[in-house]
Amino acid sequence: MDEYDIVVVGGGSGSQVATAAAERGLEAAVIERGPLGGACITRGCIPSKALIHRADVVEEVRRAPEFGIAAELGDVDYGEITSSIHDTVYEKAENQESSFEESESLTLYRGEGRFVDERTLEVEPNDRDADNVEIRGETVVLAVGGRPMIPPIDSLEDVDFLTSDDALFLDDQPDSLAIVGGGYIGAELGYFFGALGTDVTMIGRSETLVPREDDDVSEVVTNSLERYCDVYAGYEAASVEERDTGVGVTAESSDNEAGDDAIDLEAAALLLATGRRPNTDTLNLGATGVETDDDDYVEVDDRLETTCDDVWALGDIVGEQPFKHAADYETRIVTANVLDDAGREVDYHAMPHAIFTSPQVASVGRTEEALEEAGTEYESATVPFDAAPLGMILEADDGFVKVLASPDGEILGCHIVGPQASTLIQEVVVAMDSGSGTVDDVADPVHVHPALSEAVYAAFDELSSSAYSTAPNWSDVGR
Ligand SMILES: Cc1cc2nc3c(=O)[nH]c(=O)nc-3n(C[C@H](O)[C@H](O)[C@H](O)COP(=O)(O)OP(=O)(O)OC[C@H]3O[C@@H](n4cnc5c(N)ncnc54)[C@H](O)[C@@H]3O)c2cc1C
Repeated sequence: MDEYDIVVVGGGSGSQVATAAAERGLEAAVIERGPLGGACITRGCIPSKALIHRADVVEEVRRAPEFGIAAELGDVDYGEITSSIHDTVYEKAENQESSFEESESLTLYRGEGRFVDERTLEVEPNDRDADNVEIRGETVVLAVGGRPMIPPIDSLEDVDFLTSDDALFLDDQPDSLAIVGGGYIGAELGYFFGALGTDVTMIGRSETLVPREDDDVSEVVTNSLERYCDVYAGYEAASVEERDTGVGVTAESSDNEAGDDAIDLEAAALLLATGRRPNTDTLNLGATGVETDDDDYVEVDDRLETTCDDVWALGDIVGEQPFKHAADYETRIVTANVLDDAGREVDYHAMPHAIFTSPQVASVGRTEEALEEAGTEYESATVPFDAAPLGMILEADDGFVKVLASPDGEILGCHIVGPQASTLIQEVVVAMDSGSGTVDDVADPVHVHPALSEAVYAAFDELSSSAYSTAPNWSDVGR
C-alpha cells in the first residue's frame, strides 16, 4: 500500500492543500474521479458566468436604443457559445492535471475514493480494467463537494430533466424551459436563458426568488427576473408528466392556507435547480470516526478538523458557505493548520457572496430580517444607485446600496443590487475584515469620481460620524 503525508479526496478546492504540501517536499496524493478543478471550473462558477456574460451582451444590444444607439439583435449561435465555453473550461481543467503530473511529490489517482479505515482509502479507478488500490495518509483532507439535489416530485422518473450539471453545455437552445427552484442557481440560469430568448417559467417555493437574501434584495431580483421569465413565486412543483411538446409541470401553492389554484404549465425542457447536497455519501464514512449532521454535512471544529484526528474537511461538504471563494478560504485555513500547525480558526463574519443576475447582487454580513429576529439593535441607510452620477448615466435605477450598522457604527451587513455589485462589495469586505469594521472605514477614504463606488460611499456616509458630507446625489435627475 502506498503511504503519503497527505491524501486529499476531491480535486476541486482541496487539491491546493496537496499542492502546497508537495511544494514543501511532502508526499501528497489527490483522489479525483472527474475533471480537475471541481464544480467551479467545469460545472459551476466559470461556465455559468461565461454564459451570463453572453446574456449581458444581449442585454446591452437590446438596451442600446434607450441610449440613442440603433442596434438590433441578430441570430444567436447558441451551439458556438456553449462549445467555446466548454473548450475553455476543459482546457483549464486539463492544464491543472498537467501541472500535477509535473510535480514529483504529487500523485493523482483518477477514480472514486472511499474509506476503508480512519486514514486508509480505497480508490476505484475510472479505468474499469485497472484494479482497485488502497492508499494511506498520515493526514486526510476531505473536499468532495456536492451535487444537485433532486426533489421529490411525482413521476419525475418518467420524464427527462436537466440539472445545472448538464444545462450549461446544451448544443441547442431550448424554445421553452421550466425551472424549478428560485435560489441563486435557478435565478442566474433563468436570467441567462430568458435573456437569450428562451420562453422561461420559474417556480420558486418562497414568496420571492433568492429568498435567503435581504428582503429588499429578493424583491428587486424577483421583479427584474419577471422581465425575462414568467415567475411563479410561492409555488412548489408537485408532479410532472411527459407530453408531446416536452414536459408538463403541475405546481401547487406552498401556502396550504392561501388556497391558490394549482398551476399547470408546459415546456420543451425541465431544469431542476432545487439546491445541492454534499457528496459525503460517496465516502463510506462509517469506516471512520468522521461524523455528519442530519443533512449529511461533515461536522468540523473551528479549525476545520473533523471528529476524527488528522482528518480535515473543507468546501461544500462543510456546508457553512457553499461558495468557491469560501472553499478557497477554508483551503488556506486547513493548509496552515496541517502544514504549520497554525491553529487558525474560521471566521465567516466578512464572507461575501454574489448573484450574477441582471442587476447583479452582492452581500456581506447579516440581513435586516436576521438582525430583527435576533433582536439586535441596528441602524440602516439605503441609497439608490443613481445617487452616484455613473449610476444615473447607466440608468441603474432599480439598484441600491443598503447598509446595516450598530448604533456605534459597526458594520453588520451590506447588500448591493446593481451593475458591478460583485466588485463594489469588496471595499466593505476589506473594512469588515481588516479595518476596525465601522462605517467610517468605508465612508472616510476617498472614492473615485464619478465611479459607481460613489453609491457605496453615499450609503455609508449616511451612517458615518463625519460632520460634513460631499456624497453625490443625482437621483433627482431624469425622474
Ligand atoms: C451552476 C453553479 C454556479 C455556481 N456559481 C458560483 C459562483 O458564481 N461563485 C461561487 O463562489 N460559487 C459558485 N458555485 C459554487 C461553487 O462551485 C462551489 O461552492 C465550489 O466549487 C465548492 O468547491 P469544493 O472544492 O468544495 O467542491 P467541488 O468543486 O465540487 O470539488 C469536489 C470534487 O470532488 C470530487 N469527488 C466527489 N466525490 C469523490 C470521491 N468519492 N472520490 C473522488 N473524487 C470525488 C468531485 O468530482 C469534485 O471534482 C456555483 C455552483 C454551481 C453548481
